[in-house]
Amino acid sequence: MEKQIKTGFATLIGRPNVGKSTLMNRLIGQKIAITSDKPQTTRNRIQTVYTDERGQIVFLDTPGIHKAKNKLGDYMVNVAEHTLKEVDVILFLVEPTDYIGAGEKHIMEQLKKAKTPVILLINKIDKVQKKEELLLYIDAYRKEMEFDQIIPVSAKNGEGTEDLLKTIFDYLPYGPMFYDEDTVTDQPERQIVAELIREQALRLLEDEIPHGIAVSVDAMKKRKKITDVDATIICERDSHKGIIIGKGGSMLKRIGTNARKGIEDLLECQVNLKLWVKVKKDWRDSDFLLKNFGYNPKDTQL
Ligand code: GDP
Ligand code: MG
Repeated sequence: MEKQIKTGFATLIGRPNVGKSTLMNRLIGQKIAITSDKPQTTRNRIQTVYTDERGQIVFLDTPGIHKAKNKLGDYMVNVAEHTLKEVDVILFLVEPTDYIGAGEKHIMEQLKKAKTPVILLINKIDKVQKKEELLLYIDAYRKEMEFDQIIPVSAKNGEGTEDLLKTIFDYLPYGPMFYDEDTVTDQPERQIVAELIREQALRLLEDEIPHGIAVSVDAMKKRKKITDVDATIICERDSHKGIIIGKGGSMLKRIGTNARKGIEDLLECQVNLKLWVKVKKDWRDSDFLLKNFGYNPKDTQL
């Protein structure tokens, strides 16, 4: 019998600056692609995907969070009600303090209505000198609302995050994976980037590679003004690999330079593109690769 895996949805909520993005990056690791700080590219819901041998967690972005302050200067966070109901578990991130502000209280009112399991995450525990103080913070929150779990974490140094993943899986049902195991986001940029590279490669190689190539974007990481893109061109034979790389790497360099321009236009920022070439025999026979690389079987003649 096949091993059963768990899959489901989680959402992360909390006031601005409580550490949501940091925690997400920590959970997903180095591989996170373009994140939500680019509103024009995020018309669709952002889903960030974590996969390991236990299963798959899809983190849904919570639209509706806004940074308006109320009269007292507290951030009020309104969460789209339907998001709270459609996920399997909610992660509520707070600062390590026993002072519970109006912003937190406002979120808790919404959480109580949703009836979805809530895990309270007391973040930034690396800043807490005396660990026994954590008990005070936990108590303060317990008085406000009944949480399903309370976990102290540090998004910054990773403390508690393994415990968190384990706990999230406890709340997920068994089921099929929603995404390939190496997907970290449902955003189409990776797909487009892969296609831009493939396009340039095919154009420059003309018909020297009879059976076409596939491109996988292995990592896309946005820094302040530059995005690092790591991608692999996959071909079928060692001889093809040599052609793609070219004399002293000259062909690969040309592919990279041309593709980079297109990617920079797409992402509207500077791009640092690293290209690798790998031989995978018979990759066109593999459904997984076809799906993964967005390969159109109609292109077989290329
Ligand atoms: P968001 O607005 O909720 O997404 O918060 P960010 O993830 O952008 O984090 C806001 C600030 O808090 C950043 O300066 C982070 O470096 C910092 N931060 C986040 N998590 C931690 C943590 O666990 N410990 C400490 N010391 N700082 C953190
Ligand atoms: Mg953020």
